[in-house]
Amino acid sequence: MKLLNNKVAIVTGGSRGIGEAIALKLAEHGANIAFTYVSDGSAAKAAALEEKLKAFGVKAKAYQSNAGDFAQCEALVNDVVKEFGTVDICINNAGISKDNLLLRLTSEQWDDVINTNLKSVYNMTKQVIRPMMKAKSGSIINMSSIIGIIGNAGQSSYAASKAGIIGFTKSIAKELGSRNIRCNAIAPGFIETDMTGYLKEGDTADKYKADIPLGRFGSGENIADTVLFLACDWSSYITGQTLSVCGGLNM
Ligand code: NAP
Repeated sequence: MKLLNNKVAIVTGGSRGIGEAIALKLAEHGANIAFTYVSDGSAAKAAALEEKLKAFGVKAKAYQSNAGDFAQCEALVNDVVKEFGTVDICINNAGISKDNLLLRLTSEQWDDVINTNLKSVYNMTKQVIRPMMKAKSGSIINMSSIIGIIGNAGQSSYAASKAGIIGFTKSIAKELGSRNIRCNAIAPGFIETDMTGYLKEGDTADKYKADIPLGRFGSGENIADTVLFLACDWSSYITGQTLSVCGGLNM
């Protein structure tokens, strides 16, 4: 059964990792996909993913767009509405980490992380609510992190950006619930992607796994399944929530 037939979804940071898994899952369920990436080096990978998505019989297009830049997000959403007709689902997934203890954390590193992870969510949400308000429906899904809930030494900027997303999500849910626009967040635990490449094998990986009740790291697909649930009508009475997908790490 396809849960998102003919819906239009934007996925920021879709070229790799969790975003790629989300784009594939939503396309498998019939959604047309506009996804973004930022680095020139990801252009070929994005083009290949575009073809993979089209193989599900949906429309798909990759856009190079910096989620931390307001003007680029405005242009992106205008282009997507022109090309796809509307936006039904927005997944604010683009994110980076620049880990450093506060004593060494530079102002530039702080700004990079806050702009890419948090300002991006404002930039995109501000744009996508226009077509959603017109359609009187929409689902916005913001990628937070378990680190935004529990904190982590060396990740103050990342934790602040991800905690900020949770407050933003609740506020937008309250502002736009009456327009039938839902806004939820997902807080992944440790998911195996480029971002967590340092956890591949060995002592550090074993130490982290020991704290996870399910005893393993998660996959992009675990997060994509949760996005699918929050994007489709199965979650039509859920808004303003943060779903932790972390193998029990938050308990
Ligand atoms: P990843 O493998 O490093 O991929 C990051 C993606 O974001 C790439 O597609 C990248 O594009 C894109 N991106 C980075 N900066 C961008 C910008 N300014 N504008 C647009 N796109 C940008 O990361 P991931 O592990 O999949 O993480 C995805 C999201 O989940 C992030 O928000 C992350 O904080 C969150 N998360 C991850 C984990 C985890 O364990 N992996 C845990 C909790 C939360 P390029 O390919 O062009 O660089």
